[in-house]
Amino acid sequence: MMNLQAILDSIYGELQPRLGEGKVADYIPELAKVDPNQFGMAIATVDGKLYSVGEADTSFSIQSLSKVFMLTLALGKVGEGLWKRVGREPSGSSFNSIVQLEREEGIPRNPFINAGAIAVTDVVLAGHAPREAIGEFLRFVRYLADDETVTIDQKVAQSETQTGFKNIALANFMRAYRNLDHPVEHTLGVYFHQCALAMSCQQLAKAGLYLAARGSNPLTGHSVVSPKRARRINALMLTCGHYDGSGDFAYRVGLPGKSGVGGGILAVAPGLASIAVWSPGLNEVGNSQLGSAALEMLAARTGWSVFGD
Ligand code: GLU
Repeated sequence: MMNLQAILDSIYGELQPRLGEGKVADYIPELAKVDPNQFGMAIATVDGKLYSVGEADTSFSIQSLSKVFMLTLALGKVGEGLWKRVGREPSGSSFNSIVQLEREEGIPRNPFINAGAIAVTDVVLAGHAPREAIGEFLRFVRYLADDETVTIDQKVAQSETQTGFKNIALANFMRAYRNLDHPVEHTLGVYFHQCALAMSCQQLAKAGLYLAARGSNPLTGHSVVSPKRARRINALMLTCGHYDGSGDFAYRVGLPGKSGVGGGILAVAPGLASIAVWSPGLNEVGNSQLGSAALEMLAARTGWSVFGD
């Protein structure tokens, strides 16, 4: 049996001299204040163990990791009908690109680029006031993580509401193409709050466990999605989870993963474990620099990969 704690300790030790690498996201003013010299990592295994290292208990802004949970919620509501509103192909473009959206007439390439995630949020908003949809999403993530202490960082939500001009443009664009059913402020109100969820690596690793364990959380027995749906969400994470860095992440790490501009990455080793890593400094395509490095080291040392032994 391999010693996962020793592997985590060795990764942390090796990355220590590199702390602070990359560039903290500053287009959301509240995120620009985060100390870049932080690193945490946690692994939740399907047999119920939790391993962690560094600042794995510190909450950070999960940002786009929330898109995985919102996608899960939307698929639960409308099933495969969701794919009328959003595609399933890697974008090869930056996370907030508007060019592709115009060329493809308001149908975003996939649910993980911003436009796609905003369309997914719009689906979950149907029949609710924004406040209720935010509440539903928060309850869902608390249920996934089996942790009632997960909260929304209102300062981050406000900061992005005041400065999210590109997202406002994307949403207006989709509304013009009739791919947004609600007023832009309503859908974005929910979207900015979902992105502003504050969670630790430990909480995230637990919340992602259903994706590693055929759709159910083995710790709680909570059934979240069918095994088939878990496989499909993993497929989307692998192909689209790191924006225009998705190919490189698949090549280097070989596991489905979703990054966020807060510096978090949620990765899934199907049948084995859910892994969360956080370090705020980002690489040039907006993915955590040390987080990606840590996952590459973990995959190499454990042999975990969806592409073979
Ligand atoms: N809230 C961020 C935005 O919409 C999420 C982007 C990300 O985490 O990659 O710009």
